[in-house]
Amino acid sequence: MNIKEICRKLSIQHFRMYSGFSYSEEKINTYQKELAVISKRLIHKADDKQYKLWLLGNIAEYSQTKLFLQQIKERSKLHYKKINYANWKMWLPNSKEEERKKVLDYFIGNSSKIKKVLKKRYEKISEVYFRYGESVLDSFLTTENLSEDIFKKIKSLGIKYKPTFKKAWKTLGVSKEYWNEYYYLGSILYKNINFHLEPKKYVKRIYKSMGFPFGKIMVDDRDRKNKFGFAYCFWPNPPYDVRVSYKPVGGFNMFETAFHEFGHAAHAVSMSPNVPFWKRFEVPSGVAETFSELFESISTNKTYLKSINAFSPELQKRIELSRAKFLTFYAANSLVKYKYWSGEIKFDEIGSEYSSLLKKFVGIEPPEDYWLFHHILSEFTIYSPSYVVADMHKNWMLKKLKNKFGREWWNSRDAGSFIKSFMAPAYDANFMLGSTI
Ligand SMILES: [Zn+2]
Repeated sequence: MNIKEICRKLSIQHFRMYSGFSYSEEKINTYQKELAVISKRLIHKADDKQYKLWLLGNIAEYSQTKLFLQQIKERSKLHYKKINYANWKMWLPNSKEEERKKVLDYFIGNSSKIKKVLKKRYEKISEVYFRYGESVLDSFLTTENLSEDIFKKIKSLGIKYKPTFKKAWKTLGVSKEYWNEYYYLGSILYKNINFHLEPKKYVKRIYKSMGFPFGKIMVDDRDRKNKFGFAYCFWPNPPYDVRVSYKPVGGFNMFETAFHEFGHAAHAVSMSPNVPFWKRFEVPSGVAETFSELFESISTNKTYLKSINAFSPELQKRIELSRAKFLTFYAANSLVKYKYWSGEIKFDEIGSEYSSLLKKFVGIEPPEDYWLFHHILSEFTIYSPSYVVADMHKNWMLKKLKNKFGREWWNSRDAGSFIKSFMAPAYDANFMLGSTI
């Protein structure tokens, strides 16, 4: 099998696993191993820096697969009464305050094994990068076409949104305590908002007016046993094989999330087939999230919501809170990643550093091992800053779209073509977007 076939097959297995279809762990392991073996062979001949870093990413990924699975396993062993990590987030919105504290304290108090495995994982990843003469942080910055300055910008954005986020406690009627943390706030953000629109119909209409081929996307909006993903988009072979899946649970949160995932899908089906496969398959996250956040921004746009009779001042208030929550929490998330991977702090200091960053940006100070239960912080090497970088790219693009095509740019085919011109180059769009922030 060549590298393209392996990536494609691996992605399909992951899609099947998330969606509750039959899949093979053995196949996943074989593909991951083969990908690492081929990457090791190709990396010596790679004269293109970005290509080299992609191959290195594959090698590093495989080196920690077993530890990663062990980390997930240790996490899933934790049970407080009937609450475990898998059902925790579903349980949160209707939970009692004392129970919330007990569950979180239990998770945190029993996290020493998770922490040990994660420490080993990070050491392993660093080792692989070092062996090839690279560092995790520099590779991230090169891939995303950013400089270290980006962290200053992320910090000031977080500071800017602190006053808006401060209103969350009163608006949502919750006390400013650490057990009312990121996931709990997310779960009640749109509570009592009457919203029943099914997203697919609305997304389809937008695709049509901007000229995106909805029919080319495989859409899975059924719920089935063992489907554990809430909403996601996979692209085993863009622009030909692109898949979106979401659970039809209703509510505004679902509506917004579906727009986000269909933004990823619009991106993937618009990638030029002339671009080398790896550049379509592995788009820098700061680029990939730009288009999902752009589509998501339609679903939260006042003019758009009015046009589909879904606007209310209360909904708008919550949307503003949601944005402030994202930018304040993600400032803390990004900065702690930066401090660790730049060598400013040691692994054992991550927890206390994260807690004091949260204190600074959002006003709550959880016990220091809380970060082990944030899925992006604990599962990914860096990733957090990419969401904020994408937000900056998206804002730049929104300004252009409004200037060129008017306030309701999502109704314009020319706006669609403008967006597509950034989508088509796939990986290389980071050279077009990098200079916009
Ligand atoms: Zn996304």
